[in-house]
Amino acid sequence: MKKSFLSLVLLASSTVVFSAGDSHWGYEGKTGPDNWGNLSPEFATCKLGQQQAPIDIPTKSLGKATAAIKPAYKASAGEIINNGHTIQVALSDAGGANLSGVDYKFLQMHFHAPGEEKVDGKSYPFNAHLVHQSADGKLAVIGVFFKEGTENPVFKEAFAQMPSAEGKVAIKGKIDPSGLLPKSLAYYSYTGSLTTPPCSEGVTFYILKTPMEMSKAQLEQFRKLYPMNARPTFPLNGRKITETN
Ligand SMILES: [Zn+2]
Repeated sequence: MKKSFLSLVLLASSTVVFSAGDSHWGYEGKTGPDNWGNLSPEFATCKLGQQQAPIDIPTKSLGKATAAIKPAYKASAGEIINNGHTIQVALSDAGGANLSGVDYKFLQMHFHAPGEEKVDGKSYPFNAHLVHQSADGKLAVIGVFFKEGTENPVFKEAFAQMPSAEGKVAIKGKIDPSGLLPKSLAYYSYTGSLTTPPCSEGVTFYILKTPMEMSKAQLEQFRKLYPMNARPTFPLNGRKITETN
């Protein structure tokens, strides 16, 4: 009873295609990634999809992309949601970014430990996915890798407020996603899916080549809630990856 009530509350607060309230899947055992596609008919794409994310990016002989990422973010109020799978920072008015010539509105950012994408087999301890939506409903994700180093000011604010159990809080003050971007916005781009059920496809990824830093304490702060919330990588199945320098 209690559980379904919480699910309802979370579902009502989730945006677009993110089934934030579904707590019947996880990252281990019978409800882990290998079985997501069997848990519900709505999750079928998780096992049948041919353009799934994340991927391991091979950096040899990639196609050239020409469009630079043009971010236009600003500090915004919003909510920090612990949805049982990750921490999500949903911002109501954070601006957006121009990606491959299309304007996208920033929706939310959330985090994975370890980082979900790999590059030539190398993985990072953490990554942020910044989720955007265009006027016609298309999703684009900017992925930022993090390695251990100096403290990140955005995480300092966000992690201090994140709920330790499923639920959400209104952000005290404002959060600016710009603080998660490295100076160089050179990227690898590929077409993939949501990396959580229902694994819907048609999501364009822009994975930044330059990692950012966060402190060991910040990494541990997140891992205390989510020690492992990365989906394994998927085959390219003929997908072309492009890059900018
Ligand atoms: Zn993600």
